[in-house]
Amino acid sequence: MGIASKLLGLVFAATGFIVLWWGMGSTDAFSFIWTFLGMFVLAMGFALLTSGRQQKEVKPPPPTVTEIRCDSCDFKEIRDFQKGDYVLKALEVNCPKCQSAMTIEGIYIVREEPEDKDRI
Ligand SMILES: [Zn+2]
Repeated sequence: MGIASKLLGLVFAATGFIVLWWGMGSTDAFSFIWTFLGMFVLAMGFALLTSGRQQKEVKPPPPTVTEIRCDSCDFKEIRDFQKGDYVLKALEVNCPKCQSAMTIEGIYIVREEPEDKDRI
């Protein structure tokens, strides 16, 4: 959807507007049908445009990061949260500094404010 639905919405809105304009200006006996049709297509176009906007407003879930600390030295690393991560889990990866085992020290949800971290 996205851009395609927006373009379709614009096309619908423009077509509806033209048909509506034509229906209102026409002295034809069936002009009310064109007016109604124009209004309907115009409304459909706007509905498509608004639905695309609403989809954009949906916020992605806040990114979660995992803080890993070396058991022997003070090496710390923050990486993206991976499924199965939990606090104090012993990792199979070794410290790049001293090759010791590493443990998950914390899992944080990163909020929009970089300093505001929630510890689980
Ligand atoms: Zn280390």
